[in-house]
Amino acid sequence: MSDPTRPPGPRIIAVANQKGGVGKTTTAINLAAAMSAQGQRVLIIDLDPQGNASTGLGVEVDDREYTTYELLLEDIALKDVIQQTETENLFIVPATIDLSSADIELISNEKRSFLLHDALRQHAMDDFRFDYILIDCPPSLNLLTVNAMVAAHSVLVPLQSEFFALEGLSQLMLTIREVRQTANPNLRIEGVVLTMYDKRNRLSQQVEQDARDNLGELVFKTVIPRNVRVSEAPSYAVPVLDYDPTSRGALAYMALAREILQNHAKLAA
Ligand code: ADP
Ligand code: MG
Repeated sequence: MSDPTRPPGPRIIAVANQKGGVGKTTTAINLAAAMSAQGQRVLIIDLDPQGNASTGLGVEVDDREYTTYELLLEDIALKDVIQQTETENLFIVPATIDLSSADIELISNEKRSFLLHDALRQHAMDDFRFDYILIDCPPSLNLLTVNAMVAAHSVLVPLQSEFFALEGLSQLMLTIREVRQTANPNLRIEGVVLTMYDKRNRLSQQVEQDARDNLGELVFKTVIPRNVRVSEAPSYAVPVLDYDPTSRGALAYMALAREILQNHAKLAA
């Protein structure tokens, strides 16, 4: 039986957590790169006005003429905002600080929650033959994040292996439930991935135990270790897989990509 939640076209995953600094952007970039390395064509949508995913993938601010802002609010076609990155099969729609006003500008728009959904379903998308679209959400449960959840098939939640990690998760789950009830009934939770995990640290182990006890199967088997190569890669404007492919961080993101691709193969079977 084929997956009823899977319309034809790319699988769209929103990387979301309203806390800042938990590893959303790092996960979007490096999971996307790992998927690309495993033969997938991947597009990242930078939906954070901070534009960290754009910077981390080498799109200079001067080269961000058309961005997520134009895609959402100025009717610029998707094909005109997509940029190729240095990494094979990895593309991005960049963002700039302009996007910070979008949240307010969207309020008066009657399609305010559906703009990204509609933009990602433009016909010209077929030409790109993307397998995956990963949306790097801002650190907020604002209208931009709601747009991501309405556009997506699933939500992937990075959880920093720190004290208070699980706090705020219920708020996120509530938003997911609201989006299901109002706009996107098939929205799944792709999974929760523990980030910046330090296996020598009792606290990391405790957070992992709590997460597995509370969330069960939703927590990915793969955990992402705290790894200095991961934090260095953005300053070289490449994913960690290109910067240091044998680092623990790169290997972990490869394992996460495998786990997700295998889950999807099962869903599709
Ligand atoms: P968010 O997008 O949720 O705000 P980021 O992905 O920007 O979070 O990560 C926050 C900070 O933590 C960044 O400086 C990033 O380099 C660092 N970081 C993220 N994941 C790791 C990791 N696995 N190992 C080391 N540093 C990490
Ligand atoms: Mg970020």
